[in-house]
Amino acid sequence: MHLRKRVLVTGGAGFLGSHLCEVLLNRGEHVLCLDNYFTGTRDNIAHLIGNPFFEVIRHDVTFPIYLEVDRIYNLACPASPIHYQHDPVQTTKTSVHGAINMLGLAKRLKARILQASTSEVYGDPAMHPQREEYWGHVNPIGLRSCYDEGKRCAETLFFDYHRQHQLEIKVARIFNTYGPRMHPNDGRVVSNFIIQALLGKPITIYGDGSQTRSFCYVSDLVDGLVRLMDSEADVTGPINLGNPVEFTIRELAELVIAEVGRGGSIISKPLPSDDPRQRRPDITKAESLLGWKPAIALRDGLRSTIAHFDRLLSEPGSRELMRV
Ligand code: NAD
Ligand code: UDP
Ligand code: UDP
Repeated sequence: MHLRKRVLVTGGAGFLGSHLCEVLLNRGEHVLCLDNYFTGTRDNIAHLIGNPFFEVIRHDVTFPIYLEVDRIYNLACPASPIHYQHDPVQTTKTSVHGAINMLGLAKRLKARILQASTSEVYGDPAMHPQREEYWGHVNPIGLRSCYDEGKRCAETLFFDYHRQHQLEIKVARIFNTYGPRMHPNDGRVVSNFIIQALLGKPITIYGDGSQTRSFCYVSDLVDGLVRLMDSEADVTGPINLGNPVEFTIRELAELVIAEVGRGGSIISKPLPSDDPRQRRPDITKAESLLGWKPAIALRDGLRSTIAHFDRLLSEPGSRELMRV
């Protein structure tokens, strides 16, 4: 009999979580996908239902849960500013109470646990590119704080459970990731620009477009998460996972317009508060400890993401639901 690892993925019906569930099932693992469907959808995992080794659990991580698993990927948390600012108190609860519950679960089971942390722990960074040693430059009371500080506190909890209870932990600091199944209305820059271009609407650049981001394609990112989970026990992280090629937001807009091949007008909108000026991961650690680096160039990743949104927009009634 093949003994499958039982793997819990919280936030498994979300953008990254659904791709992760798919990869784990393909590796022959038994996947428990836990989600409260705040930003995730059943559509994201519909194609996995029916696989006997895929289980779905509707649950909110801020409440305790008793399960039997070997590994936990803790991804549950709204990730885009529009969604995490919708109910900021719930966002902090999800990060902090969610981490406590998942760490408690891991402690009882002696299970290895991975936290999906974020480049937002660096805030508006004064060090560029960002290395893991940098402690960050974060506003504790701003509009992004529920997410940034919630994720920072979750990291603290992971390291305290590691030191205090000898838990095997893995902390990934994920940088901007994009690809098929991004939520079309979460206001993130890649989905916004693609949908605007496909609908022939003007592209909305916030501020002057000189701020930078580095965009990682979803398959690369998920590969990094799995490698980190599989790494030697002494590799705890935090470890940056992201694409080190940096673009200005204006360059991204131009690239999307060129790839979509229609539209083309650009309009300016006000820059949201606490919007980081620049962001690029230093991935030396991921390269040396995990043998990982992204393989998909932005232009190629954009093509498959554009194809995904093009299909979505061809579904009856879908255009009216787009709030870009
Ligand atoms: P997403 O919003 O698509 O996925 C998050 C999932 O968590 C959703 O399915 C949502 O319904 C679920 N969820 C939210 N609150 C929950 C709760 N209380 N209980 C149970 N489930 C809950 O976002 P994503 O982009 O897939 O992000 C996944 C994780 O990766 C998040 O923790 C996010 O902070 C982190 N991350 C993502 C990015 C990125 O660029 N996508 C960057 C940095 C970090
Ligand atoms: N917890 C859980 N599932 C478990 C074990 C624990 O949800 O299988 C929750 C539990 O409710 C607790 C939290 O995880 O609030 C932290 O657990 P821990 O054992 O660290 O702390 P304690 O139970 O001592 O508060
Ligand atoms: N942005 C933009 N137009 C949009 C959406 C976002 O110019 O329609 C900008 C935003 O101000 C930020 C960058 O793009 O500077 C990335 O935004 P996103 O919300 O995708 O991610 P984050 O700010 O969390 O990195």
